[in-house]
Amino acid sequence: MFSLPELPYSYDALTAAIDAQTMEIHHSKHHNAYVTNLNTAVGKIADLQTKSLEQLITKVNDLPADVRTAIRNNGGGHWNHAFFWQILISGDKAKKKPVGKLAEAVDRRFGSFERLKEEFTTAATGRFGSGWAWLILKEGELYVTSTPNQDNPLMDVAETQGKPILGLDVWEHAYYLRYQNRRPEYVTNFWEIVNWEKAEELFVG
Ligand code: MN
Repeated sequence: MFSLPELPYSYDALTAAIDAQTMEIHHSKHHNAYVTNLNTAVGKIADLQTKSLEQLITKVNDLPADVRTAIRNNGGGHWNHAFFWQILISGDKAKKKPVGKLAEAVDRRFGSFERLKEEFTTAATGRFGSGWAWLILKEGELYVTSTPNQDNPLMDVAETQGKPILGLDVWEHAYYLRYQNRRPEYVTNFWEIVNWEKAEELFVG
């Protein structure tokens, strides 16, 4: 059985980019529903009940057909949101730019943090409908990518696979109360609340 993880901060901690009401609904309703629906799907197949979340979602193609879509969507939803909460931090504590070895890698790969932001913003605003934008590590190199729905770069079904370093939820439920149709503004403010120390930990880990 999977359970909803507690947030590492309060619902009003991220107001530099995300309002408290959005955070509360996003965590206690949306994320919680992914967890509940994942448990329902996994509960149908005994062989799946010993598997970790990563084991379930990395091999979508190997899942039994009758629960494949449910686990792809809800297992992905659970993993993505648990990840997302970890790479955010209150605007007061945020470093506002990459740190340490990740900062060096960003400069090497993209030329500058500004260029990374441009590429990431293009991925986030260009993702049609619901999905995620990602900064990933693939064979030792950083890439910007995006996925539809609740897919993520760990999945065998992802177009570009790799280890997520940053992720941004661009479903309307993530930003609509405050930004309505202004997704680019939400993406701009995202940079105010990135937990760059956590991102570097993922990068070197
Ligand atoms: Mn979401």
